[in-house]
Amino acid sequence: SVARVYKDACEKRPQEYWDYEQGVTIEWGKISNYEIVSKIGRGKYSEVFSGKSVLNNQPCVIKVLKPVKMKKIYRELKILTNLTGGPNVIGLLDIVQDPGSKIPALIFEEVKNVDFRALYPTFKLSDIQYYFTQLLIALDYCHSMGIMHRDVKPQNVMIDPSERKLRLIDWGLAEFYHPGVDYNVRVASRYHKGPELLVNLNQYDYSLDLWSVGCMLAAIVFKKEPFFKGSTNADQLVKIAAVLGTKQLLGYLNKYGLKLPSEYDNIMRDFTPKPWSHFITGETKLAVPEIVDLIDNLLRYDHQERLTAKEAMNHKFFKAEFE
Ligand code: ATP
Repeated sequence: SVARVYKDACEKRPQEYWDYEQGVTIEWGKISNYEIVSKIGRGKYSEVFSGKSVLNNQPCVIKVLKPVKMKKIYRELKILTNLTGGPNVIGLLDIVQDPGSKIPALIFEEVKNVDFRALYPTFKLSDIQYYFTQLLIALDYCHSMGIMHRDVKPQNVMIDPSERKLRLIDWGLAEFYHPGVDYNVRVASRYHKGPELLVNLNQYDYSLDLWSVGCMLAAIVFKKEPFFKGSTNADQLVKIAAVLGTKQLLGYLNKYGLKLPSEYDNIMRDFTPKPWSHFITGETKLAVPEIVDLIDNLLRYDHQERLTAKEAMNHKFFKAEFE
């Protein structure tokens, strides 16, 4: 199966654009131009610090990569240099090298992020319209550039509400899309993994990111964070089937010539699809028909049926007026 949009985005560009396997040319900056101020996070693949440029005192974020395969490092660098400057993509300011380990550290613009657990519950429909438009703009841009993010989740969407600024970060799992190529399904984090990853459908595409957006929206609208809370990867698909239905899952598999992997033999049950109204509780004023329809068109098993980023931006939810 092949992407419905932007399928030739890489092929129409020169090989240097998408080929990172031979290494990438890096213009190294000076590590002495940056000072670490404090530690802000430790990811699986990095340690992240808040810092500042000694040249102009501007704040920045310093992401010191952990020693992983050079190929993965090249990929993140190539993708960031290709996308930086694009709308709502985190800005890469510089690349420096730790003199001891030789491992690169990435210098980014800093976003004064408010944690999503505190921020999302404050969202009105107009805020959801605004921030999800910004997120979809970032995704449509990277997809148009031939790149799938593959790790869309609240932790990778930095929002500074005081400036109404949103930036998509963490391009460490992002990959170039080429039609017909088999991709690794061990990407994204569990709660935001699309069904294609959970049934080992290797020929996925940009539409994976739109599933993750659907999960984020459903969590906010139905006040259930995360919306699909699997305890393992296999249980993740069971949680999805409990909402979208088991027959519908089998129909999806059948369309792509797949069988339900054997790890589901003892855990999948026969679920009937639940209508979205099932998740609307007295707690939420957000579940208006327009947004429920948007979620319904993103949370589709069949990745080819999901709205693209552009289609989602043009959905009637974003055109409606709310107080
Ligand atoms: P993970 O293993 O969680 O995917 P990672 O090693 O790939 O993480 P990032 O996701 O890039 O690293 O960064 C880790 C954390 O650091 C982010 O979740 C965020 O809290 C913080 N962070 C990263 N970049 C920025 C930025 N530009 N501005 C503010 N905070 C940031």
